[in-house]
Amino acid sequence: MSTLSLRGVQKKFNKTEVIKSVDLDVEHGEFVVFVGPSGCGKSTLLRMLAGLEQVSDGAIAIDGKDVTGMMPLERGVAMVFQSYALYPHMSVFDNIGFGLRIQGMPKAQRREKVLEAARILKLEPLLERKPKQLSGGQRQRVAIGRAIVKSPKIFLFDEPLSNLDAELRVQMRLEIARLHTELGATMIYVTHDQVEAMTLADKIVVLRDGLVEQVGKPIELYENPDNLFVAGFIGSPKMNFVAGTVKSVAGNVAVISSAGFSATPISVDLRDGVATEGQVVTLGFRPEHCDLGPGGAVGKVKVTEQLGNLSYLYVDMAGGSAVTVEQRRLTDIRPGDSVNVVPEPAHVMAFDDMGKRL
Ligand code: ADP
Repeated sequence: MSTLSLRGVQKKFNKTEVIKSVDLDVEHGEFVVFVGPSGCGKSTLLRMLAGLEQVSDGAIAIDGKDVTGMMPLERGVAMVFQSYALYPHMSVFDNIGFGLRIQGMPKAQRREKVLEAARILKLEPLLERKPKQLSGGQRQRVAIGRAIVKSPKIFLFDEPLSNLDAELRVQMRLEIARLHTELGATMIYVTHDQVEAMTLADKIVVLRDGLVEQVGKPIELYENPDNLFVAGFIGSPKMNFVAGTVKSVAGNVAVISSAGFSATPISVDLRDGVATEGQVVTLGFRPEHCDLGPGGAVGKVKVTEQLGNLSYLYVDMAGGSAVTVEQRRLTDIRPGDSVNVVPEPAHVMAFDDMGKRL
């Protein structure tokens, strides 16, 4: 039995369909990340799980029990918001324990739970402070503490790190990963940041315009995207895309010309089989899956970025396309230099004109 299951979940605000029928199963202890661009419906979906929004159609079950019509408090979930939502006049201790006090939990038991959450979150030295005496990261830990003391069946995180600066975001990301391991709890986490999704998730759900584009392990989505959207959304710098036309197909291999990229056609192993001669396609290959070498497609370097361990070359191809090439070293190539770009054949993917993987 799944800890969480969604069947045909839809959401309309007036006539606007924001979530267009989502099916999903989450197992006990899984860390699931909803990721997608701003406005795709991630928060709305999470809020429906929390009971903060009604579903327009479909059903939500937690531990096999239908919770679709239940109040938030009855569902056994706890949500952590981007804005922290702490009470400014209360100490850290009281903020963490507030929900338990409202529930009428006896003081001694409440104290035990708050101290245990403070231990897990390393907040013990800060228990007497008020929120304004805390850093952003510490405030977020208090908000997480408030969720922990509820011992929820599912933790729901709504972009919890978005208000933090870059360094703190990385630190808190590690904290959340540690927390997940320590608590062994089921967690659902919303973010627009694909790096957070890749690093935290057991399972990523990629959403676009209220629809699930693909569900899978981070590395599956990275290596084996089902469509152009997922291929472009996961990975930074983005996958290179160039227009192509199928010249011929033999078995599972298509020979594809791409005048914008290369004078020589490229052989592509098709994943899902079918392509037809003359078909218009998009070819995709990641920056780390191409190199410079003789016989490759001709281009001129526009910009170079040296990151120390890696370099990125942004190349304008003679045919008119633009691609990014990763070099696993410092480069002495300069803007204006001519280069030859060679994609690794095993890592070139093809997508049809609707964006579906071929
Ligand atoms: P995300 O979290 O992916 O950025 P949201 O779930 O917040 O997206 O919003 C999805 C869409 O639903 C957006 O177009 C947003 O404008 C719309 N929306 C969200 N809440 C409401 C609401 N209460 N009333 C009307 N439209 C809403």
